[in-house]
Amino acid sequence: GALGGPEPGPQHRIRVCVRKRPLNPREAGLQDFDAVTVPCRGVVVVHEARQRLDLSRYLESQTFRFDQAFDESAPNELVYRHTAQPLVESIFRRGMATCFAYGQTGSGKTHTMVGDLSAKGQGCPKGIYTLAAQDVFCWLQEPSYKQLELQVYGAFFEIYGGKVYDLLNWRNRLKVLEDGKQQIQVVGLQEEQVSCVEDVMKLIEVGNRCRTSGQTSANTHSSRSHAIFQIILRKRGKLHGKFSLIDLAGNERGADTGSADRRTRLEGAEINKSLLALKECIRALGRNKAHTPFRASKLTQVLRDSFIGENSCTCMIATISPGMRSCEHTLNTLRYANRVK
Ligand code: ADP
Ligand code: MG
Repeated sequence: GALGGPEPGPQHRIRVCVRKRPLNPREAGLQDFDAVTVPCRGVVVVHEARQRLDLSRYLESQTFRFDQAFDESAPNELVYRHTAQPLVESIFRRGMATCFAYGQTGSGKTHTMVGDLSAKGQGCPKGIYTLAAQDVFCWLQEPSYKQLELQVYGAFFEIYGGKVYDLLNWRNRLKVLEDGKQQIQVVGLQEEQVSCVEDVMKLIEVGNRCRTSGQTSANTHSSRSHAIFQIILRKRGKLHGKFSLIDLAGNERGADTGSADRRTRLEGAEINKSLLALKECIRALGRNKAHTPFRASKLTQVLRDSFIGENSCTCMIATISPGMRSCEHTLNTLRYANRVK
């Protein structure tokens, strides 16, 4: 462990947390109400309204346990402290860390990872991308790490419809290649050297603008793409460690299968496939399995080196909406998160 204790077993490489967002005014206006409670540390209860045969209603509660659960009062900093922050130092020790936000569209993935970019200035919540970058530059000043003379780089790309686009380079389409030694390369991916947290914030802003520009509806697009932000440490050009922070596509796509057009259906199928592959790869990491099915999707393929090896650790933040009307999606999210570990 980081403090010189015994090395944690493979199951300790995975942390799964849940974050509930507040009920918003729109939902309150639609007479939706809060159906989720977080009664104590790590416990989430969903109260689902059911109908009896005589059409009277009753509540059925389902309880889930996680490493940590946050209710609507938790700010980004608190969520960060219990999820991504403990992984930051590992990349200085040649580790590969990942942190995923998983959940239904509108449940708070981007709020958690990117923060609120629209509200500029004071009081605008920083996301995990920025908070992690801050800590990277803090660790860089530690004497034992300072002497390594590491350089810090940022990369930002997205996967949309199974294709990879560079968010720091005008959505340039990128090829993913696997060499004879099973090393995966995202060919031509832009890596920008950064020397302070402000540099990183600029990259996040540029990438985020790129992610949503030229789209008819910003939210439709971003709900269908996985955004991957990476903080990369290099020593004389050679990879030393990497932290991948991922704002996943909305997980509600199963519902697209019915009436949607062909393209939407294909996109939905692609997202389902990648989220399924992601679950299997994380499970393999937690069980020290010899076989990691990373080839099953583009998402898991580009993250291959983060799923393999002694020095990989990951956390998942499952974000959920509180509303009774979102119950079905919320239960799906909680079941998925439960299965990851
Ligand atoms: P997603 O990325 O999962 O689609 P967003 O992060 O865009 O969802 O969140 C949807 C809306 O809810 C946004 O307006 C966001 O600011 C708000 N929101 C999400 N999570 C929280 C939270 N924990 N506290 C306050 N507002 C939140
Ligand atoms: Mg989003």
